[in-house]
Amino acid sequence: MLSAMMRHCLLLLFVLCSAPGAQAADAPLLAYGARIAGDDARTRVVIDFDKKPVFFVHYVANPARVIVDLPETSFGLKPEDLAARGLFSEIRYGAMGAGSSRVVLTAKKPVAITVADVKADEGGRGFRLVLDAERVTEERFSRLIEEQKWTGTVTATKTDRVVEPPAAGEFVIAVDAGHGGIDTGAIGTDTKMEEKSVTLAFAGELVATLNKEAGVKAFLTREKDEFLSLPERVQIARQHGANLFISVHADTLKQHDIRGATVYTISDKASDHLAANLAERENLSDEIAGMTLTSEPAEVADILIDLTRRETQAFSVNLARSVVSSFEGQINLINNPHRHAGFRVLQAPDVPSILLELGFLSNKQDEKLLVDPVWRKKVAGLLAGAVRAYRGGSVANGG
Ligand SMILES: [Zn+2]
Repeated sequence: MLSAMMRHCLLLLFVLCSAPGAQAADAPLLAYGARIAGDDARTRVVIDFDKKPVFFVHYVANPARVIVDLPETSFGLKPEDLAARGLFSEIRYGAMGAGSSRVVLTAKKPVAITVADVKADEGGRGFRLVLDAERVTEERFSRLIEEQKWTGTVTATKTDRVVEPPAAGEFVIAVDAGHGGIDTGAIGTDTKMEEKSVTLAFAGELVATLNKEAGVKAFLTREKDEFLSLPERVQIARQHGANLFISVHADTLKQHDIRGATVYTISDKASDHLAANLAERENLSDEIAGMTLTSEPAEVADILIDLTRRETQAFSVNLARSVVSSFEGQINLINNPHRHAGFRVLQAPDVPSILLELGFLSNKQDEKLLVDPVWRKKVAGLLAGAVRAYRGGSVANGG
């Protein structure tokens, strides 16, 4: 028994030591090239890897998508390498968190993958993943969806991390950097800066600033460039016993002249078109990442939950107002800076939540400010002041 185990260990050691290039077993894959060719009937996608990729293909409907799950992969691809064409209208790739990455191919019409194969390069440069897609009928696609036995492993890992309960009297604030990983968010008009990096840089600054306040413990829902689904963000905040949830964004608009910060709270009815459109785009995040949209858990007709929700909503509105007044005269605000809409990330029934649009990456002046560390520091300071005012108010109101 023991000797069998030892033999196994020795064998494992041998395999690890003799791995080509003596790379660490957990070094990410590198996707260093890609090609796509074909038409509306058949399309071939080829991705070059430095090492042999373990991959898993599955389908998601509405819209029809092909998902390729990979171990952690750095994508050293030029955008034009995988520009959507043929059967596909959009192709995205990036980190999913928990050591995994993903390619999401959105199809114009229902498709099936007829070939999914890894081949060693003749020149010994690595391996290429070849995917052949073929147009199929709606019926065939529905059957493919039914037949696949996919047990969404990506969502499971993130939220079961062990969390220390907050210390007594500690005021916990979840700071949520919008987007991440495969979901880049908006792209800056001039700088081509991705929203996911702008939000992460700002969220980091905000956490550091908030943590200087007595009795406050702020933390990030994501600390690096990884994907988190919208419900996961909410769940992480609740697991930490958060007293507040602040989601940070910097989106784009078609109207490039619109600029300034906006503070959003949740509501069933949007305050206006801009808010409604923005919430719709933000709520697409999970779809972009190829998640199957599970229907929301049935609303429990419980008077207590309803009361909690209403109370939470009142606190969210108080915080939003406090943020707006601390920004006034200090930084640019959009007209009617407190708006509301049905953001899925603001859905915690018991954590007062706001979504902060710092400004718009579609506006030249805003874009300059959003990437300016001095401006970020100033805004983080104003937000810390707003939280202080909010806490003062909620204590005075006995909340
Ligand atoms: Zn956003």
